[in-house]
Parts: sequence; structure tokens; C-alpha cells
Amino acid sequence: MLSLNLSNAYFFSALVELTLGVGMLAQWHSGKRRYLLLWSYGFLASAAGHLLVTRRDILPDLFSILGANFGITLSSVLFYLGTCAFLRRRKSKLPWLLLGLEIALLIGFTYVRYDTDARVYIYTACQAAITSVNVALLLAAGRERNRYLDACAATLFFTAVMLVRMVGTWFFPAPQDFMASGNFQLLFSFCLVLAHIGYALAFGNMHASALTARLNERAVELESANRQLESLSVTDPLTGLYNRRHFDDVIERTFNRTKESEGDVLAFSIFDIDHFKRYNDRYGHPQGDIVLQRIAEVLRQSMRRASDFAFRLGGEEFCVIFSVHDPDTALHTVETLRKKIEALAIPHLGNPGNVVTASFGLTCVRVDSNMDQHAVYVLADNALYEAKSTGRNRVVRSVAPALRAPPRDKSASSHLGGQILQ
Ligand code: GH3
Ligand code: MG
Ligand code: MG
Repeated sequence: MLSLNLSNAYFFSALVELTLGVGMLAQWHSGKRRYLLLWSYGFLASAAGHLLVTRRDILPDLFSILGANFGITLSSVLFYLGTCAFLRRRKSKLPWLLLGLEIALLIGFTYVRYDTDARVYIYTACQAAITSVNVALLLAAGRERNRYLDACAATLFFTAVMLVRMVGTWFFPAPQDFMASGNFQLLFSFCLVLAHIGYALAFGNMHASALTARLNERAVELESANRQLESLSVTDPLTGLYNRRHFDDVIERTFNRTKESEGDVLAFSIFDIDHFKRYNDRYGHPQGDIVLQRIAEVLRQSMRRASDFAFRLGGEEFCVIFSVHDPDTALHTVETLRKKIEALAIPHLGNPGNVVTASFGLTCVRVDSNMDQHAVYVLADNALYEAKSTGRNRVVRSVAPALRAPPRDKSASSHLGGQILQ
């Protein structure tokens, strides 16, 4: 039968800590996080320390007691360093100083004046001080959101075990017969194993929370990159308006929405700058680009509702789509746009009026389920052609010949799939 003496208890502790250390090392291997390495070394240092104590009967004190105490206290320092690395906090030198002090005093009470009780007081006091530094760090870092409570609990438990042992040694002095069974230190060694299992669980949770946070960050980055890409693919680089590619998409969506909002009128206007070739010839292409940008700015300022859309279809041709309650409002809106462009008063000596102007074709349509978007486009384009051929710098509203006098029977306009409004 295995006897329940300190040697076996420490051997058992060493086995558990070795397992935890190797487990954490495996996690580090897959993620290469420094804090995992430090925590893993912490478990391994403690395992080495406990293994050394099991050899106390055959090894000199220098290796067994001093080596063991060094390993176990070093593990607390490593846990602290790992936690600093995890929290990205500055490391205090205090734990290292406490470790140095402990070893110096232990050497004194081994080789200058041999006193095993004194060694226990020193060892437990230094350990409790180091773990208190760690608790303070965890509490400070996790305060806002009550995080790291499990790591705090495990560390506090460890500290408490040290303090209990320190006080308990007063009543149950350190046994001189190391192989004796059932003494106070035995209970203490099992408590340390429990504390270390608690550490491993808490460290695992901290690592998982860091991975989740990183994943969320990545998702946000990816989403914003996607949005940027999406916006680039639908935007005209010169004017910042939507491009032709986006036009088909939007017109389909807008038609569908108008279908839902019964009674609304979809206004569709194509316009084109007058005598723009002459402008380029006289003022130069770069100056022409500036004109396009200024007109785009007018559109941006004027078409601000969620249901308004402005596109640069290509060259010096633009398009606006918007919903209104009646065709007269649409005509008024487009007429205002025309006036605003004229009011920019951009000199253009090759154009009647000597300023930059534009001609507009407008179609207003009440959409039904059979609406043919292409037909609407053609109507607006024809209206624009009419505006050009009848003097430019004007708005012409399209009237489909068959609908010039709209029949009472709505189905009569079905070749366009919708009702064109005058
Ligand atoms: P109209 O009044 O009949 O529309 O006459 P227009 O001269 O405006 O029409 P035309 O189609 O003959 O010429 C269009 C001009 O638009 C030709 C081209 O130099 C100019 N243009 C097209 N794209 C750009 C551009 O990106 N930047 C500049 N600066 N000019 C452009
Ligand atoms: Mg033109
Ligand atoms: Mg043109």
C-alpha cells in the first residue's frame, strides 16, 4: 500500500503540476502567446520543486529544501509575470526581490543557524507576499467589469493556504521525521495542488477570453474592410457619387420599395452638362473635372433623404432617383437642381449665358409589379434629348405617346408595366 507520507504527497503534487504545465505548453504551442509560456513554466517550476522535496532523504538540504523552495516560489513569480504579460501591465520588481530575500534567509537558517520552523515562516511569508502582488494586479485590471475573478480566487486561496501554514506551524511545528504520515504539512500539500488546478482553470479562461476578444476585433476589422471595399466598388472615384455599376442595383431596390409604399411616385431624371466638350477645349480637362466635382457637390447637398440617389452615369452625364408624393414636386425638385447648377456661375464662354448649365430629362412613374425599369430609363433619356434639342438648360418631363391622355382603364398602359405620370 502507498503510505500517505509527505514524500508521496509531494510526488503526487509534482505529477499534477507537470500535467498542468505540459497542457499549458501545448496551448502555447498552438498560439505562441508569451503569457502561456510563463504560466506553463510556473507549473513546471513547482513540479520540479516538489520532485526535489521527495528526494529530501537522499539529497543534501541545498538541493532538496533550498532547491524545492526556490522552484515553488519561482512558480508564483512566473504566474505573476505571465499575468503581467497577459494584461500588458508593467512588471514590478518586488516578486523577484521577495524571491531573493527568501533564498538568502533560507540559506541563513540552513547553514548559519539550522531552524526548520523559521524556514517555514520565511517561505510562507514570501510566497503570500508575492501572490498578494498578483491578486492586487488582477483586481486592478478586472475591476471595471468584474473580470478575472476566478484567477483572483485561486491566487487568494493560495495566499490563504500559505498564511494558514504559517500560523499552523506555531501549533504544529515542521516535522523532523520527513517520512512520517498524516501530519499538518500533508494537508497543506493537497491544498497547494487544489490551488494550482484552480490556477490552470482560471488561466485557461483568461486565454479563452483573450482569443474571443481578438476574434471580435478581427470580425470588426473585416466588416469595416468589407464596407470600404463595397463602397469603393459602387463609387465613382472623381465625384464620389454612385457609379453606373451601382445604378442597376439601386434602381431595382428603389422600384421594389416604391411598390411597397403605395401612392408614391418615383422620379427618375438624367441630366447632361451643356457643351461640355467646348468647356474642356477652352479651359482644359482638369478644369472640366473640377466642374464635374462641383456639380456632384450640388447633388450631394440637395439629395439628402435616405430615398434619394445621385449617380454619375459616365462622362458628364448624371442621374437622380427619388420618391415624392406627386409629379409636380418632382418637377420642382429637378428644376431647383438645374437652377443651382446655373447659380454656381462657373464661367463657360462657349455656352449661351456664359456659365455652365445642364439639361434634364425627367420621368415620373407610379410603379406596379410589372414595371420595366429599362422603359423608364428610355423615357428619361428621350426627355433629355428633347431638352438638348429645344435649347438646353431646361427640364423636360417625359410623356409617353400612348399615355399622353391617360386612359381611365389602367391596364391600357401595361406595355410599360406602370403608369407614367405627366
Ligand atoms: P451637349 O450639350 O450636346 O451635351 O454637348 P457636349 O459637348 O457636352 O457633349 P459631347 O458628348 O459632345 O461631349 C462630352 C464631353 O464630355 C467630351 C469629353 O471631353 C467630356 N468628358 C467626358 N468625361 C469627362 C471627364 O471625366 N472629365 C472631363 N473633364 N471631361 C469629360
Ligand atoms: Mg453634354
Ligand atoms: Mg453627354
